[in-house]
Amino acid sequence: MTKYPAVILDRDGTLIVDRIYLNDPEQIQYLPGVFEALRLLRDRGFKLIVATNQSGVPRGLVKVQNLDEIHRRIQAKFCTEGVDLLAFHSAPFMTDDNHPMRKPNPGMLLEAALRFNLDLSASWMIGDRMTDVEAGHRAGTRSALIGYSDPLESSAFALPEVHAPNLLVAAQEILARG
Ligand SMILES: [Mg+2]
Repeated sequence: MTKYPAVILDRDGTLIVDRIYLNDPEQIQYLPGVFEALRLLRDRGFKLIVATNQSGVPRGLVKVQNLDEIHRRIQAKFCTEGVDLLAFHSAPFMTDDNHPMRKPNPGMLLEAALRFNLDLSASWMIGDRMTDVEAGHRAGTRSALIGYSDPLESSAFALPEVHAPNLLVAAQEILARG
């Protein structure tokens, strides 16, 4: 059976402004260049999927119905921009749970791979934290880190294959890797 390459995207700080426990769908704010970036990746045949840690849910700061509505709106907005976001995978677990679905663990990515028949070795994870980079590596993807200012060498995790200032540049660098 054919397997598909994918780009798995973090949500907060990658596609939209990180508002820390976003609970109000009216507060969604897209980061510059995200639509063009995903159109470029779409044109290269990458399936596009979102994987987001949401500890705000068990903290009681994010209601599940609001989370669903936020994802419905983001998906609809990208659709009007010509981009099909296949799915949103969320990990509603506390930071210190070490839950297999919570990044840096790879559970959401492995789940997406099973669901959509993805070739993880031909896929990328993109996010704004080293936990995103690590989740990709644990799942068997390459990883791109965006907009991260701390010294990468101070992280406990292996370095990303791509480090770019924003999603558009990351997408261009991924495409340049072939
Ligand atoms: Mg993030």
